[in-house]
Amino acid sequence: MHLVSATNNANKIKEIKQLLPSSIQLLSLQEIKCLKDIPETSPTIKGNAIQKAEYVYKNYGYNCFADDTGLVINALNGEPGVYSARYAGEQKNANDNMNLVLEKLKGIENRDARFITVIALIIDGKTTCFEGIVEGTITLEKSGSEGFGYDPIFKPNGFDITFSEMDLEQKNKISHRGKAISQLSNYLTS
Ligand code: IMP
Repeated sequence: MHLVSATNNANKIKEIKQLLPSSIQLLSLQEIKCLKDIPETSPTIKGNAIQKAEYVYKNYGYNCFADDTGLVINALNGEPGVYSARYAGEQKNANDNMNLVLEKLKGIENRDARFITVIALIIDGKTTCFEGIVEGTITLEKSGSEGFGYDPIFKPNGFDITFSEMDLEQKNKISHRGKAISQLSNYLTS
């Protein structure tokens, strides 16, 4: 089965590839010649995932899935949430985003946070969504060199290291995206 993964993020593709069964042939956006920026204008994570998948399905006609992720921090009233990619500005820079989170949490004791991923799958026009959540805390400083995005400042509950200090296999076992993809994988193979 061919399925388009509606993301240009190489890190996400790496994580997704490791988890999907080999019977699923992943196609990239480049492979289907979708080279434009896909709009993400919904006020919710789920809405953005559906918007991205629908864009690919309607304009290119491929069965596909899209994921959208947000980091939700309790003490910041759920920020950065749906604005996670551009929290510190349109440059969408991971370091700037992490610095802003650390700055805003300075002196705040409650550092509880969660990553939420929603995957929207469209097969022959039918949309199905899968959600994965991982609970954790925001560290006092960045730590680690693996992963991407906010990984260096997110410590999942039950671990003494950040996502950025884990290898891909370990992160995938417990992560928001790992959980959402394993539901997608079960759905596709059942
Ligand atoms: P999006 O799903 O690509 O819109 O991601 C929103 C923001 O969350 C971006 O800044 C990503 O870098 C960040 N992000 C997405 N997934 C992860 C992850 O697994 N770890 C850390 N940050 C992530």
